[in-house]
Amino acid sequence: NMNRIGFGNDIHRLVPGRPLILGGVAIDSDLGADGHSDADALTHAITDAIFGALALGDIGSHFPNSDERWRDAESFVFLRFAVGEAKRRGFAVANVDSTISLEAPKLRPYIEQMRECLAVALEVTHDRVSVKAKTGEAVDAVGERRAVKAEAVVLKKKK
Ligand code: MG
Repeated sequence: NMNRIGFGNDIHRLVPGRPLILGGVAIDSDLGADGHSDADALTHAITDAIFGALALGDIGSHFPNSDERWRDAESFVFLRFAVGEAKRRGFAVANVDSTISLEAPKLRPYIEQMRECLAVALEVTHDRVSVKAKTGEAVDAVGERRAVKAEAVVLKKKK
């Protein structure tokens, strides 16, 4: 029986004219996340945490943002790839905990849907997926609505 822990974080600039996708869920917002892929900061953080748990590099080493294949890519492609790489090595997700930092809108109405979407991709039940949200208290890039951030820890266990 062997456990491995991983950490991931991410930040994307908020700009007009882009969708805001978090945990695979489209958020109704006047500002969206800028980035090469769909810029889903939460999914990127969780993906990096999975790679990190197994010391498999990071999302940028597997899916470079210089590669046109990943322009506007659905970030769940990255997440499912990481889950698959871990599975190939005999590891399943034990649980995930995460926090999104976003000033507005309030994410509470979307949290359950994010947990459901992520649980499917992570191949676990949604009670093993925690998604929390907080604001930036009107300070720094998050508080000034210039960025969305996410942090995640993942525990993987050997099957
Ligand atoms: Mg990212």
